[in-house]
Amino acid sequence: MLIDYRVRQREYLLEISRALTAQLNLDELLQMVLEAATEMLAGQAGLIALRNPDGSFIIRASYGLPQSLAPYFEPLLADIPNDTNRSRFHIPGIADKLGRIVAGLGLRLQQVVALPMAIKKELIGVLYVFRAYGTRFTINDRQVLASFADQAAIAVHNAQLYERISYEKRRLNAILEYSADGVLILDSAHRVVLFNRALAQLSGWPAAKSLGRHHDEVIRWAHVETDFDFSKAVAGGWPLSPARPLYVEGDLRRRHGGSVSVGITYAPLFDHEGHLVNIIADVRDITRFREADEIKSTFISVVSHELKTPVALIKGYADTLLREDASWDPETTRESLMVIMEEADRLNQLIDDLLDASRLQAGGLSLEAEPVALNALAERVVSRFHTQTQSHEIDTRFPDDFPFISGDPERLEQVLNNLVANAIKYSTEGGRIEISGRVLPNEIVITVSDEGMGIPLKEQPHVFERFFRGAQERNQHTPGAGLGLYLAQAIVKAHGGRIWVESNPGEGSAFSFAIPIAPIPIAPIPIAPIPIAHNKPTNK
Ligand code: ADP
Repeated sequence: MLIDYRVRQREYLLEISRALTAQLNLDELLQMVLEAATEMLAGQAGLIALRNPDGSFIIRASYGLPQSLAPYFEPLLADIPNDTNRSRFHIPGIADKLGRIVAGLGLRLQQVVALPMAIKKELIGVLYVFRAYGTRFTINDRQVLASFADQAAIAVHNAQLYERISYEKRRLNAILEYSADGVLILDSAHRVVLFNRALAQLSGWPAAKSLGRHHDEVIRWAHVETDFDFSKAVAGGWPLSPARPLYVEGDLRRRHGGSVSVGITYAPLFDHEGHLVNIIADVRDITRFREADEIKSTFISVVSHELKTPVALIKGYADTLLREDASWDPETTRESLMVIMEEADRLNQLIDDLLDASRLQAGGLSLEAEPVALNALAERVVSRFHTQTQSHEIDTRFPDDFPFISGDPERLEQVLNNLVANAIKYSTEGGRIEISGRVLPNEIVITVSDEGMGIPLKEQPHVFERFFRGAQERNQHTPGAGLGLYLAQAIVKAHGGRIWVESNPGEGSAFSFAIPIAPIPIAPIPIAPIPIAHNKPTNK
């Protein structure tokens, strides 16, 4: 009878051990182990505690107990010995402790057996089985459970490894998926196996549509800057030679038209035998670098041209005046000196603009705010420009009691100066120029309009960009560095306002800016400077 029982136990053990090795889900595996162990020992309940990386133990599975009661058994874990030898694995006073725990819970568990789950002498957990009746666990019970615990330990260890690898894989996928750079992974046949979100956005290819396609179908270049692209490099022996990551830069064709500047670094991944497994490509949007590069070269060409012209004029007139073989009548001398002065003023203006532009980049312009009457400021600007042009009629149009705003009068005058100077400069045939003001509920709007050449539609969105000059202006060599409107916009923004242009090519342009009417007490004569609340930069 006893033999028969043992044979059944062993057969069961074998069967369950086979099932265990196939299970990789840790929670389900622990449940199987507990169920089998409890059944084999004719127990009523069981627990498995697993060891944390820091050496402490945690109850990971329970059987035959309401799950909510499992935490009450935690005091049992405090006494786990750090000894993986089964015969010495003994927890003193465990039965008493169990007695106290179950008494408080109204459970009828009386006997307990605990066995180590170990792999190569390393304790990975403890298996507990409880009986509700008084029959003690025998040596044979312990033996059966011990060999089962060893099998279970291996299965648990495998499932733990699998769990860790699955977690690492999910973590890696999340990193790749949410990386700010585009990431592309190819298999050895150069077919796409991973295509992340950033790359989908850059290329216009949805990830699902790109998977399985050949690299060259999704990475198509409008223009390549480097000597090689991917296919050329592969044809030349890459990745074996040269055996280093490949960098390709250029304009990537987007799926539905247009292009984007990118730099792609391809890195090969080989297996132990040196066979290519994957190619991992990092795709970086380099539009900003390109723009910065373009701005730098525009800056150099604009500045050298704009500096050279006045310097050449000043030098030419000064040379002429200094010639010893000629004497000049006072009128000619005066005219020459006037040109020298005007050109020196132009140089001065350009240097001021460049300094302002670099200050802006470094952190902003500072404003000295006080109540400003823009209508009075406009009158002053107009009267100054009257003397500079005969072919233009310049007027102002403001409603009565135009409100004061809080602002920096010098900077606002600079804005008006720029707009009026442009209106004159870009209406070569003359015409009417008007500075007008409107009052809206929360802001005032100033408009400078002209009847000049207007601005081509495609240039209109760019006129406020740094160093931007219209194609015609560049071709006709109108003087200018493309900084006036950029600075005007910065000043208006520093006042919490906005600036825009409306223009019909060939008919004229109207530049407007709005400044909020700040809720501050306005006095015609400022008592103390009133700080501007919006976007107040720190240095001047
Ligand atoms: P700049 O006058 O030195 O070129 P701005 O920043 O003042 O620089 O202006 C940028 C460009 O905007 C000009 O080159 C010109 O193409 C266009 N623009 C500005 N104001 C006018 C205007 N009133 N009429 C036509 N085009 C204008």
